[in-house]
Amino acid sequence: MIEDARWRDCVRYVQGSMENAVGALYVRETFAGESKRMVSDLISKIQEAYVETLEELSWMDDQSKEKAREKAMAIKEHIGYPDHILEESNLKLDQEYAHLNFSEENYFENILENLQAEAHKSLKKLREPVNPDMWIIGAAVVNAFYSPNRNQIVFPAGILQPPFFSKKQLQALNFGGIGMVIGHEITHGFDDNGRNFDKDGNMLNWWSNYSAEHFKDQSQCMVQQYGNFNWKLAGGQNVSGISTLGENIADNGGVRQAYKAYMKWMEKEGEEHRLPGLDMDHKQLFFLNFAQVWCGAYRPEYASQSIKTDSHSPLEYRVLGSLQNFGAFSEAFQCKPGTPMNPEIKCRVW
Ligand SMILES: [Zn+2]
Repeated sequence: MIEDARWRDCVRYVQGSMENAVGALYVRETFAGESKRMVSDLISKIQEAYVETLEELSWMDDQSKEKAREKAMAIKEHIGYPDHILEESNLKLDQEYAHLNFSEENYFENILENLQAEAHKSLKKLREPVNPDMWIIGAAVVNAFYSPNRNQIVFPAGILQPPFFSKKQLQALNFGGIGMVIGHEITHGFDDNGRNFDKDGNMLNWWSNYSAEHFKDQSQCMVQQYGNFNWKLAGGQNVSGISTLGENIADNGGVRQAYKAYMKWMEKEGEEHRLPGLDMDHKQLFFLNFAQVWCGAYRPEYASQSIKTDSHSPLEYRVLGSLQNFGAFSEAFQCKPGTPMNPEIKCRVW
């Protein structure tokens, strides 16, 4: 067991048990109101790109494509934060914490208060109809989500910031950053798990036998590809192509849809200026930010643990894996056929 810095433990605990109170403080401090409209606009563009990409697929029949199109267009979105947390005299937020009796002196008892409140809250839901407007995560979170049984995507305020997104940064960076994340979440609705749910979030098989069989063949290619990644930092263990399949399908689809949407945006709005000091064109900048947002570092101990437990591939393979499969990347960087980033065999599901 490794201990974190004390302040990290405290922040994590308060964020975990009072996410709307923390969310309200966070949003007031940092979130620009117009981001919501801009991200909503981006979501429509990526949805459109997903639907257009369906036409390129030869492994799926028209009947299943139509169902996939319907499901993609029925995806609901939550962006930034739930409106009620910013209301002036905030009844709803007050009520959420009304029955909590904290004391400054009693840490342990405060934890019990929180546990009791959480249990109370979830038991109460048992007798209530599903509330589609309920947020499944707080605003101050740097992550994004897809919920298969709601057919819903969520982008908390925490991820709507650089390097993922800013109204002040190039669109190449926005599409390569948050655009790719949006595509990733949408594609989760069509990965090996999400594909089992219909447009209303009910578990229902909407696939023809032909398309379902071919989905498995296409996926198998990625199981092989990622299963061959050998991670030195994790003592030379290989990535599990099977347990990371859903995330890899989402990564591959996401970057492709975002790129397509960016190309379409450029056709309409014209080519952007470049970044000073970097000799890269706009296509290369798109891929640069895609890689940038997945930058990170692991300690070897954590690498060994996460390769066994994380449903995501290690960060570097999330980047390499999806770009090896994407012809637009090797074109943008002129990778010769047969080199590692432009292999002969490329996997593609969406
Ligand atoms: Zn994911």
